[in-house]
Amino acid sequence: MSTSKTKDKYQIAVIPGDGIGKEVMDATILILDELDIDFDYVYGEAGDECGKKTGTPLPEKTLNIIRNADACLFGAAGETAADVIVKIRQEMKMYANLRPIKSYPNTNALFDDVDFMIVRENTEGLYIADKEELTEDGAIAKRVITKKAEERIIDYAFNYAKENNKSKVTAVHKANVLKKSDGLFRQIFYDVAEKYPDIEAEDFYVDATAMYLITQPQKFEVIVTTNLFGDILSDEGAGLVGGLGLIPSANIGEDGALFEPVHGSAPDIAGEGKANPIAMMLSAIMMLRYLNENEAAEKFEAAILKVLNDGETLTGDLGGSSSTIEVAEAIKNNL
Ligand code: ATP
Repeated sequence: MSTSKTKDKYQIAVIPGDGIGKEVMDATILILDELDIDFDYVYGEAGDECGKKTGTPLPEKTLNIIRNADACLFGAAGETAADVIVKIRQEMKMYANLRPIKSYPNTNALFDDVDFMIVRENTEGLYIADKEELTEDGAIAKRVITKKAEERIIDYAFNYAKENNKSKVTAVHKANVLKKSDGLFRQIFYDVAEKYPDIEAEDFYVDATAMYLITQPQKFEVIVTTNLFGDILSDEGAGLVGGLGLIPSANIGEDGALFEPVHGSAPDIAGEGKANPIAMMLSAIMMLRYLNENEAAEKFEAAILKVLNDGETLTGDLGGSSSTIEVAEAIKNNL
């Protein structure tokens, strides 16, 4: 994930959304403001609260803010998440969903040496609402695999591997059962792999992958997979490295890029100042790398690492008792 775009000033769409989305966004902006980069934040509304207030969870005004920005930071949407985030992904043709799975110290990670990227296809597969229908007997969901979309995501994964010094890409599918759709996916994977002779290409069934993620996660560097499998495996990955409070994500597309934590609005802890801001902060770090602001990204990540290593200022999900803002202040002091 990179771009040659480095500007004097960036316009950033900021959509805090619902629940803890607002809290982790405030904490993240506190750090971004310390990085000596000129950000022009344009705030937009979306989510449950926005729906109640304006009659729609994703007003056209918010979509325009995202369209006009260099990148978008998104907090969380509650019940309306599907109407908000899925729609933004479609509108902005965000075809690649990136979810890094990395273990950090002083977390509940099952291993201390996990570091891989899940590259998930974001536009087709089983997740297309208009391909699902009720029938007389029950319901049918169609799984759509197109050559164009799969080639694009597989090429993205290999290119990501090349640019980030990774030596291997693993395709995950179920081609022994879904012979036509995943058979095609696997064939396209090996066709695209020929363009990248320096990168090893291997493939696993999704069920075996679910097991390897728990038994030998170190074997993965970059996983590329279809929409539903990518969604499930990335939550498994979150559990592997200590929970939702630590997992960022990026949605990259032809017309824009959006960065958001994998967690939702967490209504159970919203408004209490207990949310871990690190997933949102790591999402902002992915944005910095997308904008080619690599030095700032490293500085920000090093400060997070320092706070995690110290282990003194942690939120409840990591066994500490610090508040969202206390964690943000500690990270700020370590920049
Ligand atoms: P939504 O409906 O918005 O997806 P949810 O509660 O179903 O909300 P998540 O928001 O993903 O799903 O949260 C799942 C659980 O993980 C919740 O119990 C929440 O308290 C916890 N959690 C999620 N994110 C964080 C965070 N950043 N810090 C601490 N705990 C978190």
